[in-house]
Amino acid sequence: MDIQPTASHFIDGVYIEDTDGTPIDVIYPATGEIVGRVYSATPAIIERALVSAQNAQRAWAKTSGTERGRVLRRAADIMRERNHGLSVLETYDTGKPLSETLYVDATSAADALEYFGGLAGSLTGDHIPLSEGNWAYTKRDPLGVCVGIGAWNYPTQISCWKGAPALACGNAMIFKPSETTPLCALKVAEILLEAGLPAGLFNVVQGLGDVGASLVADARVAKVSLTGSVATGCKVYAAAAAGMKQVTMELGGKSPLLIFDDANLENAVSGAILANFYSTGQVCSNGTRVFVQKGIRDAFLMRLKERLSLAIIGDPLDETTTIGPMVSQRQLDIVLGYIKQGKAEGARLVVGGSRIAGSGYYIEPTVFADVTDSMTIAQEEIFGPVMAVLDFEHEDEVIGRANATAFGLSAGVFTADFSRAHRVIDALEAGTCFINSYNDAPVEMPFGGVKMSGVGRENAKDAITYYSQIKSVFVRMGDVEAPF
Ligand code: NAD
Repeated sequence: MDIQPTASHFIDGVYIEDTDGTPIDVIYPATGEIVGRVYSATPAIIERALVSAQNAQRAWAKTSGTERGRVLRRAADIMRERNHGLSVLETYDTGKPLSETLYVDATSAADALEYFGGLAGSLTGDHIPLSEGNWAYTKRDPLGVCVGIGAWNYPTQISCWKGAPALACGNAMIFKPSETTPLCALKVAEILLEAGLPAGLFNVVQGLGDVGASLVADARVAKVSLTGSVATGCKVYAAAAAGMKQVTMELGGKSPLLIFDDANLENAVSGAILANFYSTGQVCSNGTRVFVQKGIRDAFLMRLKERLSLAIIGDPLDETTTIGPMVSQRQLDIVLGYIKQGKAEGARLVVGGSRIAGSGYYIEPTVFADVTDSMTIAQEEIFGPVMAVLDFEHEDEVIGRANATAFGLSAGVFTADFSRAHRVIDALEAGTCFINSYNDAPVEMPFGGVKMSGVGRENAKDAITYYSQIKSVFVRMGDVEAPF
């Protein structure tokens, strides 16, 4: 792998190594082999990242939006030129097949850089006319030093979904990748520097939760954006609240996908496949509770089974492979545990259900039918290729059941009746929804959850709100009247 980063951390425009930190092995999930090693950031490394980010941010905030945008758009171009190498690295980091990484990782990261690069020059405040000729204006100021903390499923994309809007608004970012996938964000840092981003504005430090927690607790940090589990989100949100910091929380889900009798069967099956098996099911917005109306249920299951037999499970570096391994032994064990529980609680196994023998963390795509609302596999986020199919009869009934969860990231509906589609989506408690589709995430569309699935939105113009703050200025044109 000639694209390997050369050291653990990227601070102030250079790679830095500090072997005093705890070693973290980078394991290629397809073979279980160690393909790299990074070292967790020591307090000295964290301090260096904070000081350089703080210094660089002051100057960056004084540049024009157009200048900032130019750098981001240049970075997008470089990223696209290097898509193949970056995709191979993403595959080594995550195990996701090249048939995915070539199309959705560096490319979606580049989209974010390009989109926010384009927006940067048009970030303005308002002019507010008031009585007696007075007026007010607002300025959109950067927050300062932002911390991004990533999950392991989309390491390149997550670093840019956070980094691009942060930088566009005039902030600096310190990004801590997931300890499971530490490599990709380092390449993003290299590319940003090459595109002309001043040193210190996008630093990457490695480490486990404790490194993330130290960054969140530091008084020099103004904002924290986390992509991770609800459990981690609760801890990080609380720690950020102690310092009254702004947050974006992109957390987990157990999203419902509703398939009505009148849906186009082939599209509904495709949607359910995308909602459960893309990235080996390791997608936060997955529609893992697939509610299928009784009239279409048997046909749906039959066609799903046929379509799953076409999946090619294997070497992620072979471009014909469509399903790769789980990201880690730990995640594999978690998923196998849920499958065991599904069987024990009486769900009917329709497809898959077993680990695939050999090296690497492979598991069969799995479908359970006859799942009921109270089963563990219908309640908890599994984060693996396990679909739970639940039956339903009526629209009102299924909406109530779909909403009976603490999560609220996504929801989808397949139906030929467009008034029903909009009515149902309107009633579903979720932040990111799909009609006759599933899991599309264009940068132009806001992404995020409600309820326990998160706070704030990534992507689209809305993300600007979460990386900037409004300063209001009242301007009196006449004399000041006081009571005495
Ligand atoms: P995780 O919560 O275990 O870890 C996420 C990150 O938080 C890691 O970088 C970890 O080191 C860090 N962390 C852990 N404890 C911390 C602490 N106390 N303070 C600061 N940082 C800490 O999640 P994961 O296993 O890496 O990822 C899977 C989870 O992420 C799933 O729940 C999934 O749904 C969610 N996810 C959400 C989105 C989204 O956009 N909503 C996207 C991808 C993944």
